[in-house]
Amino acid sequence: MGKEMKKAGAAKRKKRPEAGESRVLLIGNPNVGKSTVFNALTGAARHTGNWTGKTVDSAVGYLKGSGRRIALCDLPGCYGLEATSPEENEVRAALAEGGASCAVIVCDASCLERSLNTALQTLSVTRRAVVCLNLADEAAKHGVFVDTEKLSELLGAEVVLTSAASGKGMKALAAAIVREASRGGDPVKMTDPPKPMWGEAARIASQCVTRDTDAFSARRLKLDRFLTGRLTGLFALAALLALVFYITMRGAEYPSRLISLGLSRLLQTVTRLLEKTPLPRDLISALCEGGLGTLFTVVAVMLPPMAIFFPLFTFLEDLGLLPRIAFDMDAPFRACGSCGKQALTCCMGFGCNAAGAIGCRMIDSPRERLIGVLTNSFIPCNGRLPSLAVLASLAAACAGSGGGAVSALILTGFLVLAVLMTLAVTKLLSVTLLRGKPSSFVLELPPFRRPKIGQILVRSLIDRTLFVLSRAAAVAFPAGLVLWLLSRGGAEAPICRVTAFLDPAGRLLGVDGASLTALITGLPANELIMPMLVKLYTGAADADMAAMRAVLTANGWGLKTTLCMTWLMLFHSPCAATLLTVRRETGSFGWMLLSVLLPASAGVLLAVLTAAVL
Ligand code: GDP
Repeated sequence: MGKEMKKAGAAKRKKRPEAGESRVLLIGNPNVGKSTVFNALTGAARHTGNWTGKTVDSAVGYLKGSGRRIALCDLPGCYGLEATSPEENEVRAALAEGGASCAVIVCDASCLERSLNTALQTLSVTRRAVVCLNLADEAAKHGVFVDTEKLSELLGAEVVLTSAASGKGMKALAAAIVREASRGGDPVKMTDPPKPMWGEAARIASQCVTRDTDAFSARRLKLDRFLTGRLTGLFALAALLALVFYITMRGAEYPSRLISLGLSRLLQTVTRLLEKTPLPRDLISALCEGGLGTLFTVVAVMLPPMAIFFPLFTFLEDLGLLPRIAFDMDAPFRACGSCGKQALTCCMGFGCNAAGAIGCRMIDSPRERLIGVLTNSFIPCNGRLPSLAVLASLAAACAGSGGGAVSALILTGFLVLAVLMTLAVTKLLSVTLLRGKPSSFVLELPPFRRPKIGQILVRSLIDRTLFVLSRAAAVAFPAGLVLWLLSRGGAEAPICRVTAFLDPAGRLLGVDGASLTALITGLPANELIMPMLVKLYTGAADADMAAMRAVLTANGWGLKTTLCMTWLMLFHSPCAATLLTVRRETGSFGWMLLSVLLPASAGVLLAVLTAAVL
């Protein structure tokens, strides 16, 4: 198994300097703002967030505004260069490879001593370095002051004070990098592994740091006791999730209707314009009713919930909630043979299962990493969340409640079930195919940080929402065309024969042939399932969230059908992109197949049971 599982960081993108180009390595502890510094210096949009372990691979970007080309390499966070983790290995490899013009060592000004081990070890390898003392604003807020001149003197390197999140000090840092990279001398090259420097780190910190009383600590401690308390922790997190779902569901309905209305007008206009061209009618119908209609439905149903959910989720991520979730979930995951880091990868899977599977590289134990990859799609990604929201509100209506709060609670219940199922399958794998003892890990609870709203909006709307939406849109258009083709021929159309053929199996699962067909069409991208189903039921070209519910009700969906469809959707096979990622991360076709079979069997089992009982 160890051989099959690729080592974390194996996908690193090696970058060799081209002629006239220098390479600069960005090194530092996790969560000190390296990626934020990298983004600010290069204009890239690398994932940032207030938790340790999100940066598991390297990235390369070019320093903005430098006369010559300076390539910056953002390395994974490490606590030192002892090579005790895959991240440290990757940083060591970059240093040992040699050839870099200088290293930028990012340190945490609010907690200098902890950053100094990595800084001192790097400085023992090369003197060609700039120390970026980041999080200056946070340090000031906590009453921590660093004498940068003294620090520079003791370290023998230029020290630049920055607050990367607000861009402060970034010009000075860029200038220092250009100066250091242009200075002559031997390139950075590690020959002997450096020794731990703790004693030295404490000595230097004591000479450079002064602190006032830290009023924030007491408040943070209280909040942390509540969020990570044995009784309160999980309850608080579930309540927070329900609130996020409530805001998402309430906020999404109206924009969904507006977008659907706008897009349906656009569709009419496009159709009219195309009808004035010599294009054959069938082709126009295929393009408009088939391709564009499906594409517009996906946009109208997916965009509003995602545009609300992702910023809220990113807000909580930047606040520092994710490591607290890992802390709360550590005990349940350990009881099932894994560790709380898997909870972090589940949180990533909530956005996108492919990202969640890659995020499993942060899990050190190969056995637990593999379990994390195989079970990640038990957590519904954002491709499924909007459809699950429609099903949750339909379930609420079937149970006699039209209220948004009840729908949000039901959706929270679906997610709790997904987490319980993840735990159950983790346990199953831990006692069968992937036997072993749970590993322990050190979890750093970062300080609560006030999120920057502007950054959140840019990151969540552009990076996440548009990324997921564009991937869905790319498959929606061709899928709509295929469905249009298969729908030709009235009652004898191929699609009618397919749905009729699948109907008995569908009934066994508590749904019908059309639902099963839609679930199968969702294999390339899960977000296609509900729009395809509406198309199969009505042939209509577009729909919003409310219209979708109305169509399902008109087709006789009661509580049984809604719940059965929910289980089949919640535990659907991973989408094509996730499957390719699983294949790449595990290096095995067999594990990839298992990542399909596990959720699909859970969904089928639950649906059959529900159909038999209700
Ligand atoms: P990395 O793990 O070292 O790459 O850290 P990130 O770049 O992901 O940053 C960790 C968290 O700190 C994120 O929530 C950032 O928005 C935040 N952050 C980064 N730099 C600063 C800063 O100078 N001040 C404040 N207040 N927050 C920062």
